[in-house]
Amino acid sequence: MSTKEKFGSEKNRILIVDDSPTSSAMLEGVLGDAGYTVQSASSGPEAIEIIKGWAPSVILLDLVMPEMSGMEVVAEVRALELPRRPSIIIVSGESANEVVVEALSSGADDFVIKPFNEPELLARILSQLRISDFYREVEEDNRSLETILDITSAITATLDTVEVLDIIVKRVASVMHADRCSIVLVAREHEGYILAAHDNPEMHDKKVDLEKYPEIVEAIDKKHPVVLEDMLNHPLMTKVKGNIQDLIEMSVLIVPIVIEDTVLGTLFLRTKRKESGFTKKEIEFCQVVANSSFHAIRNARLFAQIVQEKEKLAELAITDQLTSLYNHDYFYKRLFDELERAGRYETPVALLMMDIDDFKAVNDTHGHRTGDVVLSDIAARIKSSVRKTDIVARYGGEEFAIILPQTTLQGGVEEAERLREVIVSQGYGGLPSGKITLSIGVAARGKVAKGASVGELVNEADNALYKAKRSGKNCIVHTAS
Ligand code: GH3
Ligand code: MG
Ligand code: MG
Repeated sequence: MSTKEKFGSEKNRILIVDDSPTSSAMLEGVLGDAGYTVQSASSGPEAIEIIKGWAPSVILLDLVMPEMSGMEVVAEVRALELPRRPSIIIVSGESANEVVVEALSSGADDFVIKPFNEPELLARILSQLRISDFYREVEEDNRSLETILDITSAITATLDTVEVLDIIVKRVASVMHADRCSIVLVAREHEGYILAAHDNPEMHDKKVDLEKYPEIVEAIDKKHPVVLEDMLNHPLMTKVKGNIQDLIEMSVLIVPIVIEDTVLGTLFLRTKRKESGFTKKEIEFCQVVANSSFHAIRNARLFAQIVQEKEKLAELAITDQLTSLYNHDYFYKRLFDELERAGRYETPVALLMMDIDDFKAVNDTHGHRTGDVVLSDIAARIKSSVRKTDIVARYGGEEFAIILPQTTLQGGVEEAERLREVIVSQGYGGLPSGKITLSIGVAARGKVAKGASVGELVNEADNALYKAKRSGKNCIVHTAS
């Protein structure tokens, strides 16, 4: 018998305890044919030793044996602290009612009278296995529930993020018999941070390159738990196989922590290889726990930092460097949005295109540096002079565009005039006031028709600006003039 056969899957292990070699041999034949892994003991003490080391799920036990009776074996087995309670089926020639009743009331689970009927014996074994499966499930459910309650009370008891995440990974690792359990914060593409790892409390905030963890990336992309039963040989791991050679016979489960369609992080769990994979219940348990870590992750110092960085990056992408106004691309995006909104609510929108007059001369006379200062000063001046809801962008070199939501052509012209006067009345970059003037073209849409064209509106304002330049600069022209 090979080691693998001998140790078989726990569920299939049956121990025969019988002092008669003929009886034993017959049972061995029947059970072996039915696919069970079988061991035999010819006495009570031998049986106890096997039970301690081999953990059979069912014991077929003879009653009358020298040395130690079947009933004594039952009593001793039930007194043992075993990880799982084996089912005991008495197989005996004794058929007196009192014997059966005594056996069943002192810890045996079933009674089969010899000579037994083969199909009946097999059916009774199956029935015992079903019952112990059921018990196991109830036990597992209980354990999961206890852990979840534990974690929940830990979360309410401490506001310390690090502590909460530590508790979560430790409890999950113990319930799931994990070799590694950690929570990874997803920062950006390919960048994660270990917030907690059950086997190493020093791992906080350690940066990880997610390219080396295709299983985590998969869970992030799919927004769904990922299970690799044999991680070393899974196709997903081909790229990184060289790095994980020591992870032979390991299974991995990754549960993404998703909120509003965004993956904040993942719960990562590695265990000794599971023959039958992770059960649905285990995965569900991990999902519940993973989600309970959501607040702690959100509170993590690193998280705040990363959100800030992301916001900064997003802001940079739409901002003009010199003036800090919105850039050309964002202007178009916003104009599109504003026209859409105006179409929906049937409100007007005005657009101002302004260009500084003779700016080349400013550069030529005072230098490009001064030109830059003038530009950014004017930008600040415009920004502080308009409504909060108006959108000011640097359209080009010395050209600005302003979107005025809920403003008619008339309102746009008035605003343009006000701005022109405000700008002219100031000095910029050390130049005296009155030196810098600008021309403005105004266009608008009254009640905006659905699908109004951004390009047409910009062209109209641009043409008006061109006319303003042609008619002597430092003035305003609008489309109706
Ligand atoms: P007009 O009244 O017809 O608008 O004349 P203008 O000189 O303002 O127009 P033109 O288009 O001939 O020249 C624009 C000038 O603006 C030339 C260019 O060097 C300057 N300019 C554009 N962007 C910047 C910038 O970022 N910094 C500085 N200092 N100058 C800029
Ligand atoms: Mg100009
Ligand atoms: Mg220009």
